[in-house]
Amino acid sequence: MASQYDLIVIGSGPGGYVAAIRASQLGMKVAVVEKAELGGICLNWGCIPTKALLKSAQVFEYISHAKDYGIDVKDASVDFGGMVKRSREVAAGMSKGIQFLFKKNKIEVLNGFGKIQKGKKVEVEDDKGKKTVYQAKNIILATGGRSRELPAMPIDNEKIIGYRKAMVMDKQPKKMVVVGSGAIGVEFAYFYNSIGTEVTIVEFMDRVVPVEDEEVSKALERNFKKNGIKVMTSSEVTKVDTKGTGCKVTVKTKKGEEQLDCDVVLSAVGVATNLEGVGLEETGVKTEKGKVIVDDYYKTNVDGVYAIGDIVHGPALAHVASAEGIICVEKIAGENPQPLDYGNIPGCTYCSPEIASVGMTEKQAKEAGYEIKVGKFPFSASGKASAAGHKDGFVKVIFDAKYGEWLGCHMIGANVTEMIAEAVAARKLETTGHELIKTVHPHPTMSEAVMEAAAAAYDEVIHI
Ligand SMILES: Cc1cc2nc3c(=O)[nH]c(=O)nc-3n(C[C@H](O)[C@H](O)[C@H](O)COP(=O)(O)OP(=O)(O)OC[C@H]3O[C@@H](n4cnc5c(N)ncnc54)[C@H](O)[C@@H]3O)c2cc1C
Repeated sequence: MASQYDLIVIGSGPGGYVAAIRASQLGMKVAVVEKAELGGICLNWGCIPTKALLKSAQVFEYISHAKDYGIDVKDASVDFGGMVKRSREVAAGMSKGIQFLFKKNKIEVLNGFGKIQKGKKVEVEDDKGKKTVYQAKNIILATGGRSRELPAMPIDNEKIIGYRKAMVMDKQPKKMVVVGSGAIGVEFAYFYNSIGTEVTIVEFMDRVVPVEDEEVSKALERNFKKNGIKVMTSSEVTKVDTKGTGCKVTVKTKKGEEQLDCDVVLSAVGVATNLEGVGLEETGVKTEKGKVIVDDYYKTNVDGVYAIGDIVHGPALAHVASAEGIICVEKIAGENPQPLDYGNIPGCTYCSPEIASVGMTEKQAKEAGYEIKVGKFPFSASGKASAAGHKDGFVKVIFDAKYGEWLGCHMIGANVTEMIAEAVAARKLETTGHELIKTVHPHPTMSEAVMEAAAAAYDEVIHI
Protein backbone atom coordinates (compact mmCIF):
# COMPACT_ATOMS: atom_id res chain seq x y z
CA MET A 1 0.00 0.00 0.00
CA ALA A 2 1.39 3.44 -0.89
CA SER A 3 1.70 5.84 2.03
CA GLN A 4 -1.52 7.76 2.39
CA TYR A 5 -0.05 10.14 4.93
CA ASP A 6 3.36 11.51 5.82
CA LEU A 7 2.22 11.50 9.43
CA ILE A 8 -0.61 9.96 11.43
CA VAL A 9 -0.99 11.22 14.98
CA ILE A 10 -3.03 9.10 17.40
CA GLY A 11 -4.68 11.41 19.96
CA SER A 12 -5.64 15.07 19.55
CA GLY A 13 -4.61 16.48 22.96
CA PRO A 14 -2.10 19.36 23.28
CA GLY A 15 0.64 16.91 22.27
CA GLY A 16 -1.14 15.48 19.24
CA TYR A 17 -2.94 18.50 17.80
CA VAL A 18 0.08 20.78 18.13
CA ALA A 19 2.34 18.15 16.50
CA ALA A 20 -0.19 17.78 13.66
CA ILE A 21 -0.39 21.53 12.99
CA ARG A 22 3.40 21.97 13.07
CA ALA A 23 3.78 18.99 10.69
CA SER A 24 1.28 20.51 8.32
CA GLN A 25 3.18 23.83 8.43
CA LEU A 26 6.29 21.87 7.46
CA GLY A 27 4.54 20.49 4.38
CA MET A 28 3.45 17.07 5.59
CA LYS A 29 0.18 15.38 4.74
CA VAL A 30 -1.29 14.72 8.17
CA ALA A 31 -4.18 12.81 9.75
CA VAL A 32 -5.19 12.72 13.41
CA VAL A 33 -7.01 9.75 14.94
CA GLU A 34 -9.31 10.67 17.83
CA LYS A 35 -11.79 8.49 19.71
CA ALA A 36 -13.43 11.29 21.71
CA GLU A 37 -13.52 15.10 21.62
CA LEU A 38 -10.84 17.05 19.73
CA GLY A 39 -8.38 18.75 22.09
CA GLY A 40 -7.82 15.84 24.49
CA ILE A 41 -7.92 16.03 28.26
CA CYS A 42 -6.44 19.52 28.32
CA LEU A 43 -9.24 21.29 26.47
CA ASN A 44 -12.14 19.02 27.42
CA TRP A 45 -11.43 17.55 30.87
CA GLY A 46 -8.29 19.20 32.24
CA CYS A 47 -6.59 22.58 32.01
CA ILE A 48 -9.41 24.61 30.48
CA PRO A 49 -12.67 23.45 32.15
CA THR A 50 -10.98 23.48 35.58
CA LYS A 51 -9.82 27.03 35.03
CA ALA A 52 -13.38 27.99 34.05
CA LEU A 53 -14.68 26.52 37.33
CA LEU A 54 -11.91 28.24 39.28
CA LYS A 55 -12.84 31.55 37.68
CA SER A 56 -16.43 31.08 38.88
CA ALA A 57 -15.11 30.42 42.39
CA GLN A 58 -12.94 33.54 42.24
CA VAL A 59 -15.82 35.70 41.04
CA PHE A 60 -17.93 34.37 43.92
CA GLU A 61 -15.10 35.14 46.36
CA TYR A 62 -14.78 38.67 45.00
CA ILE A 63 -18.50 39.23 45.35
CA SER A 64 -18.48 37.78 48.86
CA HIS A 65 -15.72 40.24 49.79
CA ALA A 66 -17.19 43.15 47.83
CA LYS A 67 -17.60 45.12 51.06
CA ASP A 68 -13.78 45.17 51.44
CA TYR A 69 -13.68 47.14 48.17
CA GLY A 70 -16.43 49.55 49.20
CA ILE A 71 -19.22 47.85 47.31
CA ASP A 72 -22.50 46.63 48.78
CA VAL A 73 -23.75 43.42 47.21
CA LYS A 74 -26.75 41.62 48.61
CA ASP A 75 -27.74 37.98 48.33
CA ALA A 76 -24.94 36.49 46.25
CA SER A 77 -25.35 32.73 46.06
CA VAL A 78 -23.79 29.86 44.15
CA ASP A 79 -25.57 28.41 41.12
CA PHE A 80 -23.55 25.20 40.96
CA GLY A 81 -25.29 23.97 37.80
CA GLY A 82 -24.59 27.33 36.16
CA MET A 83 -20.89 27.07 37.00
CA VAL A 84 -20.68 23.56 35.53
CA LYS A 85 -22.63 24.65 32.44
CA ARG A 86 -20.28 27.58 31.83
CA SER A 87 -17.24 25.34 32.23
CA ARG A 88 -18.64 22.83 29.72
CA GLU A 89 -19.43 25.61 27.25
CA VAL A 90 -15.89 26.97 27.50
CA ALA A 91 -14.47 23.48 26.89
CA ALA A 92 -16.80 22.85 23.93
CA GLY A 93 -15.80 26.19 22.41
CA MET A 94 -12.10 25.36 22.69
CA SER A 95 -12.64 21.92 21.15
CA LYS A 96 -14.46 23.56 18.22
CA GLY A 97 -11.44 25.81 17.83
CA ILE A 98 -9.27 22.75 17.17
CA GLN A 99 -11.73 21.64 14.48
CA PHE A 100 -11.23 25.05 12.85
CA LEU A 101 -7.42 24.86 13.14
CA PHE A 102 -7.39 21.37 11.60
CA LYS A 103 -9.49 22.56 8.68
CA LYS A 104 -7.26 25.60 8.20
CA ASN A 105 -4.16 23.38 8.17
CA LYS A 106 -5.76 20.70 5.94
CA ILE A 107 -5.44 18.04 8.62
CA GLU A 108 -7.81 15.08 8.27
CA VAL A 109 -9.58 13.72 11.34
CA LEU A 110 -10.09 9.96 11.48
CA ASN A 111 -12.73 9.36 14.17
CA GLY A 112 -12.25 6.17 16.13
CA PHE A 113 -9.81 4.14 18.21
CA GLY A 114 -6.31 4.04 16.72
CA LYS A 115 -3.96 1.08 16.94
CA ILE A 116 -0.52 0.81 15.40
CA GLN A 117 0.35 -2.19 13.27
CA LYS A 118 3.66 -3.47 11.90
CA GLY A 119 4.91 -1.68 8.76
CA LYS A 120 3.85 1.86 9.86
CA LYS A 121 0.15 1.14 9.57
CA VAL A 122 -2.65 2.45 11.75
CA GLU A 123 -5.93 0.63 12.20
CA VAL A 124 -8.86 2.88 13.09
CA GLU A 125 -11.98 1.30 14.58
CA ASP A 126 -15.02 3.58 14.52
CA ASP A 127 -17.82 3.51 17.09
CA LYS A 128 -19.78 1.01 14.98
CA GLY A 129 -16.88 -1.44 15.02
CA LYS A 130 -15.79 -0.80 11.39
CA LYS A 131 -12.03 -1.11 11.00
CA THR A 132 -9.99 0.75 8.36
CA VAL A 133 -6.22 0.53 7.94
CA TYR A 134 -4.16 3.54 6.88
CA GLN A 135 -0.52 3.68 5.81
CA ALA A 136 1.84 6.39 7.03
CA LYS A 137 5.53 7.25 6.75
CA ASN A 138 5.57 8.24 10.42
CA ILE A 139 3.27 7.67 13.37
CA ILE A 140 3.12 9.67 16.61
CA LEU A 141 1.40 8.15 19.62
CA ALA A 142 -0.13 10.88 21.80
CA THR A 143 -2.85 8.99 23.64
CA GLY A 144 -2.49 10.80 26.97
CA GLY A 145 -3.71 9.75 30.39
CA ARG A 146 -6.59 9.25 32.78
CA SER A 147 -7.08 9.25 36.58
CA ARG A 148 -4.86 6.77 38.38
CA GLU A 149 -6.77 4.57 40.79
CA LEU A 150 -5.59 3.34 44.19
CA PRO A 151 -6.62 -0.19 45.28
CA ALA A 152 -8.24 1.24 48.46
CA MET A 153 -10.32 3.64 46.37
CA PRO A 154 -11.68 2.09 43.16
CA ILE A 155 -13.47 4.83 41.22
CA ASP A 156 -17.24 4.16 40.98
CA ASN A 157 -18.10 7.63 39.62
CA GLU A 158 -20.75 8.09 42.29
CA LYS A 159 -19.11 8.24 45.68
CA ILE A 160 -15.48 7.74 44.69
CA ILE A 161 -14.81 9.96 41.73
CA GLY A 162 -11.95 11.07 39.50
CA TYR A 163 -11.34 14.51 38.02
CA ARG A 164 -13.84 14.09 35.18
CA LYS A 165 -16.81 13.52 37.42
CA ALA A 166 -15.59 16.27 39.79
CA MET A 167 -16.13 18.72 36.91
CA VAL A 168 -19.69 17.69 36.12
CA MET A 169 -21.35 16.64 39.36
CA ASP A 170 -25.15 16.82 39.37
CA LYS A 171 -25.18 18.65 42.65
CA GLN A 172 -22.67 20.30 44.90
CA PRO A 173 -21.51 17.92 47.64
CA LYS A 174 -21.79 19.11 51.24
CA LYS A 175 -18.65 17.29 52.36
CA MET A 176 -15.77 16.12 50.21
CA VAL A 177 -12.50 14.33 50.91
CA VAL A 178 -9.79 15.08 48.36
CA VAL A 179 -7.06 12.44 48.27
CA GLY A 180 -3.80 13.84 46.92
CA SER A 181 -2.58 17.42 47.07
CA GLY A 182 -0.84 17.82 43.74
CA ALA A 183 -2.06 20.54 41.37
CA ILE A 184 -5.33 18.75 40.49
CA GLY A 185 -6.17 17.94 44.12
CA VAL A 186 -5.59 21.45 45.50
CA GLU A 187 -7.38 23.12 42.58
CA PHE A 188 -10.55 21.09 43.27
CA ALA A 189 -10.12 21.50 47.05
CA TYR A 190 -9.98 25.28 46.63
CA PHE A 191 -12.90 25.32 44.17
CA TYR A 192 -15.29 23.28 46.29
CA ASN A 193 -14.29 24.93 49.57
CA SER A 194 -14.73 28.42 48.20
CA ILE A 195 -18.30 27.68 47.07
CA GLY A 196 -19.25 26.23 50.45
CA THR A 197 -18.39 22.50 50.44
CA GLU A 198 -16.64 21.26 53.57
CA VAL A 199 -13.31 19.95 52.25
CA THR A 200 -10.63 17.72 53.79
CA ILE A 201 -7.36 17.06 51.97
CA VAL A 202 -5.53 13.81 52.71
CA GLU A 203 -1.89 13.79 51.56
CA PHE A 204 0.52 10.90 51.90
CA MET A 205 3.62 13.12 51.94
CA ASP A 206 4.47 15.42 54.84
CA ARG A 207 3.29 18.56 53.04
CA VAL A 208 0.79 19.75 50.45
CA VAL A 209 1.96 20.40 46.84
CA PRO A 210 4.99 18.22 47.65
CA VAL A 211 6.89 19.00 44.42
CA GLU A 212 7.02 22.70 45.27
CA ASP A 213 9.55 24.54 47.45
CA GLU A 214 8.88 23.81 51.15
CA GLU A 215 8.11 27.44 51.95
CA VAL A 216 5.44 27.48 49.24
CA SER A 217 3.87 24.31 50.67
CA LYS A 218 3.78 25.88 54.13
CA ALA A 219 2.22 29.11 52.84
CA LEU A 220 -0.49 27.23 50.93
CA GLU A 221 -1.32 25.00 53.90
CA ARG A 222 -1.61 28.07 56.13
CA ASN A 223 -3.90 29.78 53.64
CA PHE A 224 -6.07 26.70 53.10
CA LYS A 225 -6.46 26.17 56.87
CA LYS A 226 -7.33 29.85 57.36
CA ASN A 227 -10.06 29.40 54.77
CA GLY A 228 -11.52 26.34 56.46
CA ILE A 229 -9.97 23.45 54.51
CA LYS A 230 -8.90 20.60 56.79
CA VAL A 231 -5.43 19.42 55.80
CA MET A 232 -4.12 15.99 56.82
CA THR A 233 -0.52 15.38 55.77
CA SER A 234 1.58 12.23 56.35
CA SER A 235 -1.77 10.46 56.09
CA GLU A 236 -3.13 7.67 53.94
CA VAL A 237 -6.63 6.57 53.01
CA THR A 238 -6.76 2.85 53.74
CA LYS A 239 -10.47 2.19 53.19
CA VAL A 240 -13.58 3.85 51.85
CA ASP A 241 -16.89 2.36 52.92
CA THR A 242 -19.53 3.44 50.41
CA LYS A 243 -22.42 1.47 51.90
CA GLY A 244 -25.23 3.65 53.21
CA THR A 245 -25.92 7.25 52.23
CA GLY A 246 -22.43 8.76 52.28
CA CYS A 247 -18.86 7.50 52.56
CA LYS A 248 -16.87 6.54 55.62
CA VAL A 249 -13.20 7.15 54.94
CA THR A 250 -10.56 5.47 57.09
CA VAL A 251 -7.37 7.50 57.26
CA LYS A 252 -4.12 6.22 58.73
CA THR A 253 -2.30 9.14 60.35
CA LYS A 254 0.86 9.38 62.44
CA LYS A 255 -1.34 9.49 65.53
CA GLY A 256 -3.44 6.48 64.60
CA GLU A 257 -6.59 5.87 62.58
CA GLU A 258 -9.23 8.53 61.94
CA GLN A 259 -12.69 8.20 60.38
CA LEU A 260 -14.04 10.91 58.08
CA ASP A 261 -17.63 11.16 56.88
CA CYS A 262 -18.34 12.73 53.51
CA ASP A 263 -20.66 12.61 50.49
CA VAL A 264 -17.91 12.04 47.99
CA VAL A 265 -14.21 11.15 47.78
CA LEU A 266 -12.16 12.70 44.99
CA SER A 267 -9.19 10.57 44.01
CA ALA A 268 -6.47 12.93 42.75
CA VAL A 269 -3.45 10.68 43.01
CA GLY A 270 -1.91 11.06 39.60
CA VAL A 271 -2.23 9.97 36.02
CA ALA A 272 -2.29 6.51 34.38
CA THR A 273 -1.31 6.26 30.71
CA ASN A 274 -3.68 5.22 27.90
CA LEU A 275 -1.52 2.52 26.37
CA GLU A 276 -3.88 -0.45 26.44
CA GLY A 277 -4.83 -1.86 23.04
CA VAL A 278 -2.82 0.63 20.99
CA GLY A 279 -0.62 -2.08 19.47
CA LEU A 280 2.57 -1.72 21.52
CA GLU A 281 2.99 -5.46 22.15
CA GLU A 282 2.20 -6.42 18.53
CA THR A 283 4.71 -3.94 17.10
CA GLY A 284 7.32 -4.36 19.85
CA VAL A 285 7.35 -0.76 21.15
CA LYS A 286 9.16 -0.80 24.49
CA THR A 287 7.75 0.69 27.70
CA GLU A 288 9.06 1.23 31.20
CA LYS A 289 6.92 1.81 34.31
CA GLY A 290 3.82 2.39 32.18
CA LYS A 291 5.46 4.95 29.87
CA VAL A 292 6.80 4.61 26.33
CA ILE A 293 10.60 4.74 26.12
CA VAL A 294 11.78 7.44 23.68
CA ASP A 295 15.02 9.22 22.78
CA ASP A 296 15.61 13.01 22.94
CA TYR A 297 13.49 13.40 19.80
CA TYR A 298 10.65 11.10 20.94
CA LYS A 299 11.58 8.20 18.67
CA THR A 300 10.67 4.78 20.07
CA ASN A 301 12.70 1.63 19.44
CA VAL A 302 10.47 0.92 16.41
CA ASP A 303 11.38 2.71 13.17
CA GLY A 304 8.87 5.42 12.23
CA VAL A 305 6.98 5.28 15.55
CA TYR A 306 7.21 8.21 17.99
CA ALA A 307 5.54 9.02 21.33
CA ILE A 308 4.92 12.34 23.11
CA GLY A 309 2.96 13.88 25.98
CA ASP A 310 1.67 12.18 29.11
CA ILE A 311 2.63 8.72 27.80
CA VAL A 312 6.37 9.46 27.94
CA HIS A 313 8.59 10.28 30.93
CA GLY A 314 8.68 13.89 32.10
CA PRO A 315 6.11 16.12 33.73
CA ALA A 316 2.48 15.43 32.69
CA LEU A 317 1.71 18.98 31.57
CA ALA A 318 0.02 20.36 28.48
CA HIS A 319 2.83 22.76 27.57
CA VAL A 320 5.35 19.93 27.84
CA ALA A 321 3.25 17.73 25.52
CA SER A 322 3.04 20.56 22.96
CA ALA A 323 6.76 21.34 23.12
CA GLU A 324 7.56 17.65 22.65
CA GLY A 325 5.19 17.45 19.68
CA ILE A 326 6.88 20.39 17.94
CA ILE A 327 10.40 19.06 18.51
CA CYS A 328 9.34 15.60 17.34
CA VAL A 329 7.88 16.72 13.99
CA GLU A 330 10.66 19.23 13.32
CA LYS A 331 13.15 16.37 13.69
CA ILE A 332 11.02 14.12 11.42
CA ALA A 333 11.02 16.95 8.85
CA GLY A 334 14.83 16.97 8.88
CA GLU A 335 15.28 20.14 10.90
CA ASN A 336 17.73 20.35 13.76
CA PRO A 337 15.71 21.32 16.86
CA GLN A 338 17.35 21.47 20.29
CA PRO A 339 16.17 18.76 22.70
CA LEU A 340 13.74 20.01 25.34
CA ASP A 341 15.35 21.34 28.53
CA TYR A 342 13.32 19.53 31.19
CA GLY A 343 15.11 21.60 33.85
CA ASN A 344 13.39 24.76 32.64
CA ILE A 345 9.73 23.74 32.58
CA PRO A 346 7.34 25.99 34.50
CA GLY A 347 4.71 24.39 36.71
CA CYS A 348 1.53 26.24 37.67
CA THR A 349 -1.29 25.55 40.12
CA TYR A 350 -4.40 27.65 39.81
CA CYS A 351 -5.97 27.51 43.25
CA SER A 352 -6.08 30.75 45.21
CA PRO A 353 -3.43 31.81 46.00
CA GLU A 354 -1.86 30.58 42.77
CA ILE A 355 1.50 28.81 42.67
CA ALA A 356 4.11 29.03 39.92
CA SER A 357 7.63 27.72 39.85
CA VAL A 358 10.54 26.81 37.64
CA GLY A 359 13.93 25.24 38.29
CA MET A 360 15.30 23.92 41.55
CA THR A 361 13.80 24.28 45.00
CA GLU A 362 16.12 25.53 47.75
CA LYS A 363 16.53 21.96 49.01
CA GLN A 364 17.30 20.61 45.52
CA ALA A 365 19.88 23.35 44.89
CA LYS A 366 21.64 22.55 48.18
CA GLU A 367 21.50 18.82 47.48
CA ALA A 368 23.03 19.46 44.04
CA GLY A 369 26.00 21.01 45.85
CA TYR A 370 25.45 24.66 44.94
CA GLU A 371 26.44 27.45 47.25
CA ILE A 372 23.35 29.61 46.95
CA LYS A 373 21.96 33.08 47.45
CA VAL A 374 18.26 33.15 48.30
CA GLY A 375 16.03 36.21 48.08
CA LYS A 376 12.40 36.55 49.06
CA PHE A 377 9.97 39.39 48.57
CA PRO A 378 6.52 39.28 50.22
CA PHE A 379 3.49 40.64 48.37
CA SER A 380 2.54 42.38 51.63
CA ALA A 381 5.26 44.92 50.65
CA SER A 382 3.96 45.35 47.08
CA GLY A 383 1.88 48.42 46.24
CA LYS A 384 -0.04 46.63 43.48
CA ALA A 385 -0.85 43.68 45.76
CA SER A 386 -2.13 46.08 48.44
CA ALA A 387 -4.24 48.00 45.93
CA ALA A 388 -5.68 44.75 44.59
CA GLY A 389 -6.35 43.33 48.05
CA HIS A 390 -4.06 40.34 47.42
CA LYS A 391 -1.27 40.67 49.95
CA ASP A 392 -0.82 36.94 50.57
CA GLY A 393 2.27 35.20 49.24
CA PHE A 394 5.77 35.93 48.01
CA VAL A 395 8.37 35.48 45.30
CA LYS A 396 11.43 33.44 46.20
CA VAL A 397 14.49 33.27 43.97
CA ILE A 398 17.58 31.10 44.22
CA PHE A 399 20.90 31.98 42.58
CA ASP A 400 24.21 30.19 42.36
CA ALA A 401 26.45 32.31 44.60
CA LYS A 402 29.51 31.83 42.35
CA TYR A 403 28.26 32.74 38.85
CA GLY A 404 24.85 34.28 39.57
CA GLU A 405 22.97 31.61 37.59
CA TRP A 406 19.24 31.73 38.31
CA LEU A 407 18.65 28.24 39.70
CA GLY A 408 15.04 28.48 40.74
CA CYS A 409 12.03 30.75 41.11
CA HIS A 410 9.03 29.99 43.34
CA MET A 411 5.96 32.13 43.68
CA ILE A 412 2.72 31.96 45.58
CA GLY A 413 0.12 34.72 45.30
CA ALA A 414 -2.54 36.24 43.09
CA ASN A 415 -1.93 35.80 39.33
CA VAL A 416 1.61 34.49 39.76
CA THR A 417 0.95 31.95 36.99
CA GLU A 418 1.07 34.92 34.62
CA MET A 419 4.46 35.99 36.03
CA ILE A 420 6.55 32.82 35.83
CA ALA A 421 7.30 33.08 32.09
CA GLU A 422 9.75 35.91 32.93
CA ALA A 423 11.84 33.48 34.94
CA VAL A 424 11.64 30.80 32.23
CA ALA A 425 12.78 33.23 29.51
CA ALA A 426 15.51 34.77 31.67
CA ARG A 427 16.84 31.34 32.62
CA LYS A 428 16.80 30.27 28.95
CA LEU A 429 18.90 33.38 28.19
CA GLU A 430 21.20 32.58 31.12
CA THR A 431 20.38 35.85 32.87
CA THR A 432 22.28 36.43 36.13
CA GLY A 433 20.94 37.81 39.39
CA HIS A 434 22.64 41.20 38.85
CA GLU A 435 21.16 41.50 35.36
CA LEU A 436 17.72 40.78 36.78
CA ILE A 437 18.10 43.46 39.46
CA LYS A 438 19.00 45.96 36.73
CA THR A 439 16.00 44.98 34.58
CA VAL A 440 13.44 47.75 35.12
CA HIS A 441 10.03 46.33 36.01
CA PRO A 442 6.87 48.42 35.58
CA HIS A 443 5.29 50.03 38.63
CA PRO A 444 2.91 49.19 40.14
CA THR A 445 2.85 45.53 39.16
CA MET A 446 3.08 42.24 41.00
CA SER A 447 6.09 41.49 38.77
CA GLU A 448 8.21 44.05 40.64
CA ALA A 449 8.38 41.39 43.35
CA VAL A 450 10.63 39.29 41.07
CA MET A 451 13.17 42.11 40.71
CA GLU A 452 12.93 42.89 44.43
CA ALA A 453 13.38 39.22 45.40
CA ALA A 454 16.55 39.14 43.25
CA ALA A 455 17.70 42.35 44.95
CA ALA A 456 16.98 40.76 48.34
CA ALA A 457 19.30 37.88 47.43
CA TYR A 458 22.11 40.42 46.97
CA ASP A 459 21.20 42.66 49.96
CA GLU A 460 20.00 45.44 47.64
CA VAL A 461 16.26 45.20 48.25
CA ILE A 462 14.50 48.58 48.49
CA HIS A 463 10.99 47.99 49.78
CA ILE A 464 11.53 45.73 52.79
C1 LIG B 1 -8.10 18.04 35.94
C2 LIG B 1 -6.83 18.31 35.19
C3 LIG B 1 -6.31 19.59 35.15
C4 LIG B 1 -5.15 19.85 34.46
N1 LIG B 1 -4.66 21.12 34.43
C5 LIG B 1 -3.52 21.38 33.77
C6 LIG B 1 -3.00 22.69 33.70
O1 LIG B 1 -3.59 23.62 34.23
N2 LIG B 1 -1.86 22.90 32.98
C7 LIG B 1 -1.20 21.88 32.38
O2 LIG B 1 -0.16 22.11 31.76
N3 LIG B 1 -1.65 20.62 32.42
C8 LIG B 1 -2.80 20.34 33.10
N4 LIG B 1 -3.28 19.08 33.12
C9 LIG B 1 -2.51 18.02 32.44
C10 LIG B 1 -2.79 18.07 30.93
O3 LIG B 1 -4.18 18.02 30.71
C11 LIG B 1 -2.09 16.91 30.25
O4 LIG B 1 -0.72 16.92 30.58
C12 LIG B 1 -2.22 17.00 28.74
O5 LIG B 1 -3.57 17.01 28.35
C13 LIG B 1 -1.49 15.84 28.07
O6 LIG B 1 -1.62 15.98 26.70
P1 LIG B 1 -1.52 14.72 25.72
O7 LIG B 1 -1.60 15.29 24.36
O8 LIG B 1 -0.39 13.87 26.09
O9 LIG B 1 -2.82 13.83 26.01
P2 LIG B 1 -4.35 14.12 26.28
O10 LIG B 1 -4.66 15.54 26.45
O11 LIG B 1 -4.74 13.18 27.37
O12 LIG B 1 -5.03 13.66 24.92
C14 LIG B 1 -5.01 12.35 24.48
C15 LIG B 1 -6.10 12.15 23.47
O13 LIG B 1 -5.92 10.90 22.85
C16 LIG B 1 -7.18 10.28 22.68
N5 LIG B 1 -6.93 8.85 22.61
C17 LIG B 1 -6.42 8.04 23.57
N6 LIG B 1 -6.24 6.80 23.09
C18 LIG B 1 -6.65 6.82 21.80
C19 LIG B 1 -6.70 5.86 20.77
N7 LIG B 1 -6.23 4.62 20.94
N8 LIG B 1 -7.21 6.22 19.57
C20 LIG B 1 -7.67 7.49 19.36
N9 LIG B 1 -7.62 8.43 20.29
C21 LIG B 1 -7.12 8.11 21.48
C22 LIG B 1 -7.97 10.71 23.90
O14 LIG B 1 -9.36 10.62 23.65
C23 LIG B 1 -7.50 12.16 24.05
O15 LIG B 1 -8.32 13.03 23.32
C24 LIG B 1 -4.47 18.79 33.80
C25 LIG B 1 -4.99 17.51 33.82
C26 LIG B 1 -6.16 17.26 34.50
C27 LIG B 1 -6.71 15.87 34.51
